[in-house]
Amino acid sequence: MSKIMENIGSVLGEIRAAALRAGRDPAEVTLVVVTKTRTVAEIEEALAAGVRHLGENRVQELRSKAPFLQAQQPTWHLIGTLQTNKVKQALEWADLIHSLDRVSLLEELVKQCERRGRPCDALVQVNVSGEHTKQGLAPADLEPFLRLVAGQRWVRVRGLMTMAPLVDDPEKARPYFRRLRELRDQVRDLGLEGISMEHLSMGMSGDYVVGVEEGATLVRVGTAIFGPRD
Ligand SMILES: *Cc1c(COP(=O)(O)O)cnc(C)c1O
Repeated sequence: MSKIMENIGSVLGEIRAAALRAGRDPAEVTLVVVTKTRTVAEIEEALAAGVRHLGENRVQELRSKAPFLQAQQPTWHLIGTLQTNKVKQALEWADLIHSLDRVSLLEELVKQCERRGRPCDALVQVNVSGEHTKQGLAPADLEPFLRLVAGQRWVRVRGLMTMAPLVDDPEKARPYFRRLRELRDQVRDLGLEGISMEHLSMGMSGDYVVGVEEGATLVRVGTAIFGPRD
C-alpha cells in the first residue's frame, strides 16, 4: 500500500473515532482531501484509495488539474479566497465554494449563476478568531449577510466554514469551532428561506479531530495525507 493510501486510512480512522467519541454518526463527516501543490498523479492515488471529495484553494490550480481527473468524477471544493474576477472560471469546476465572505462576491456569484442558468452551492466563511490575517465575515455581520442571500435563488448557502488560528496545540482550536457551531444553531433558529445549515467546514491537518468532535461535517486535510508542502 502506498504512503498516501495508508495516511488516508489513518485519517479516516481518526475521524471515525472522534465522531463516535462525540456521540455522532461517522457517516455525517466527509473528508475533503486538499490537493493544492500536489500533482495529478498524487491525486489519482488518493482517488484510488476511495476518496471522492477534493479541495483546492486557488481557481487557477483547480482549472489546471480538474480536466485530467474527470473520469473519476470527484466533487471539487473551492476552499480558498475567491476573487470576483475568477468567479466565472470557478463555477466551471467547483461543486461547493467554502469561501463566500462578502457582498461583492455574492453579487458576482448571483450574476454568473443567473447567466449560466444554474444555481450554485456555497458556505459562508466566518472569521471567528477575529485575526486580521483571516478572511471571513465577522460573526456580527453574518445575519445581515444571510438576509441578503435569502432574497435570491441563485446562490444556495449550505452552511458555514472557518479557519482556526494556526497553533501548536489542537485543543486551542476548540473554542473557535464551538463558536462556529453555535452560530450555525443561531442561524437555523432564524429559519431564513433557502438557507440550509447542514454543513460545518472546520478542521485541517492539525486540528481536524477537534473539528469533528465539535460538529464538523467537512474536514479539509492536506498535509496529513500527502506530507509537508514545499
Ligand atoms: C491548505 C488548506 C487546508 C489544508 O491544510 P493542511 O494543513 O495541509 O491540512 C485547509 N483549508 C484551507 C482553506 C487551506 O487553504
